[in-house]
Amino acid sequence: MYDVTIIGCGVTGAAAAYELSKFRLSIAVLEKENDVACGTTKANSAIAHAGYDPKPGTKMARLNVLGSEMMESLCRRLNVEYERTGSLVLAFDEEDMRSLRALCERGRENGVRGLEIISGAKALEMEPNINPEVVGALYAPTAAIVNPWGLCIALAGTAVMNGAELFLNSEVRGIERGDGYFRIKTASGALETRYIVNASGAHSDKISEMVAKPFFKIIPVKGEYFLLDKSQGGLVRRVIFQPPNEDGKGVLIAPTVHGNLIVGPTSERVTDPEDCSVTARGLEKVLNISSRSSGKIDFRETIRNFAGIRASAEIDDFILEASAPGFINAAAIKSPGLTAAPAIGLEIVRLLEEEGLRPEKREDFREYRSGTLFKDMTPGDRSEALKRDKRFGRVVCRCETITEGDILDALKGPIPPVSIDGVKRRCRAGSGRCQGGFCGPRVHEILSRERGIRMEEVCQDKAGSFLLTGRTKEGCGL
Ligand SMILES: Cc1cc2nc3c(=O)[nH]c(=O)nc-3n(C[C@H](O)[C@H](O)[C@H](O)COP(=O)(O)OP(=O)(O)OC[C@H]3O[C@@H](n4cnc5c(N)ncnc54)[C@H](O)[C@@H]3O)c2cc1C
Repeated sequence: MYDVTIIGCGVTGAAAAYELSKFRLSIAVLEKENDVACGTTKANSAIAHAGYDPKPGTKMARLNVLGSEMMESLCRRLNVEYERTGSLVLAFDEEDMRSLRALCERGRENGVRGLEIISGAKALEMEPNINPEVVGALYAPTAAIVNPWGLCIALAGTAVMNGAELFLNSEVRGIERGDGYFRIKTASGALETRYIVNASGAHSDKISEMVAKPFFKIIPVKGEYFLLDKSQGGLVRRVIFQPPNEDGKGVLIAPTVHGNLIVGPTSERVTDPEDCSVTARGLEKVLNISSRSSGKIDFRETIRNFAGIRASAEIDDFILEASAPGFINAAAIKSPGLTAAPAIGLEIVRLLEEEGLRPEKREDFREYRSGTLFKDMTPGDRSEALKRDKRFGRVVCRCETITEGDILDALKGPIPPVSIDGVKRRCRAGSGRCQGGFCGPRVHEILSRERGIRMEEVCQDKAGSFLLTGRTKEGCGL
């Protein structure tokens, strides 16, 4: 019997697990995929939003601003990449300016610090590569960029280090209510728990309906992106938005914490919550809209296109509440859910306490710090690393200068990766210009060797995404 079971290990579930692991509780985390951060958490704009977008008085507004304030020190402590770049919302005519003034007012009401409307000339001075026709901008100095999957892995890793049990490949298929407890059936077995936190992203309506009457429906809304090579990474230093419209925050241009440039997303309703396909139509839309912000993006430098799914609901707010005794929904966590995650974690503990959980603080709580890559180490630390393991001297991923030692370190973390993309999410091998064209086979070999499995059993990403079927000419007598 667990005290609390969290369903879903994206950044919401991971933040809940992190906060709960500060207490003497038995915690289970159930994730349907073979790794954490495999849903929306790995496919978004990676912005820690300042908080001027959400409607004042909503949970979204409160938790956005609080999450943004918590994010920097949390990332520093967990060694997750974070950079407070600030953001600009550009205006090109009087209608845009009206929209900026409304955003500024809304932001001040939400408690966002430092908001300022600046002239077009000032905006151009700050960002010389934006469209010179800009007439004004809303400057938000507290906006930032962050590594979203890195944050999720570090939060979940901390929870695991403090005793939470993570069950991967454990899709929840049914929940029965007992007297003061729940029995959860998963793809890997069953367990019992006193409290449940539903953090299952785009599937959260289905999980909620296993326990309570249907009262919300998730409307999956897809967003498509371009990720560009580091040659484009310096085009802008801040996050560049256009005024929001019926499609939400619209298409942005932003540097990433890894030195690339991200451009997107679109906003398109889809029926399948797993539909992360990228379409010519969607990408063309991004190209056209982004050209209003800057005509200087060289899209020939694209290294990847991807898409993420917003877990939207009819109500324009997060659904964070108990919908049955002992059952907390952390549902419809669309943007700014990444920013709000640290605050959502705290909110979930509060809601569980309202439901009767009486957690007792533990004194021995420790945070998991993600490893520092060999290339980012000080000269002294590099010598130490090489003394510890010569394989820090062997570069595997040439684009990102990731060594075999870095990969081995990633494999020793509290949540070891089981796939090639899992390795990429932890130490960036395969995330450079060639997208794993050169290092993919080496990472494949290392995973096979270290996990003691056959090459044919190694997956690219999700369970079943095998790359090899057998040896060439095997069985034909050669
Ligand atoms: C295009 C786009 C851009 C965005 N940009 C930003 C941004 O810049 N800044 C920001 O703050 N926010 C942004 N967001 C929002 C942010 O990404 C999300 O709010 C956040 O990632 C949600 O995390 P989550 O953990 O709730 O969901 P997810 O990351 O989707 O995690 C849910 C998890 O539940 C698991 N699961 C589902 N069903 C089951 C089941 N039956 N059993 C077990 N496990 C299950 C899934 O596998 C998944 O791992 C953006 C979102 C999108 C789509």
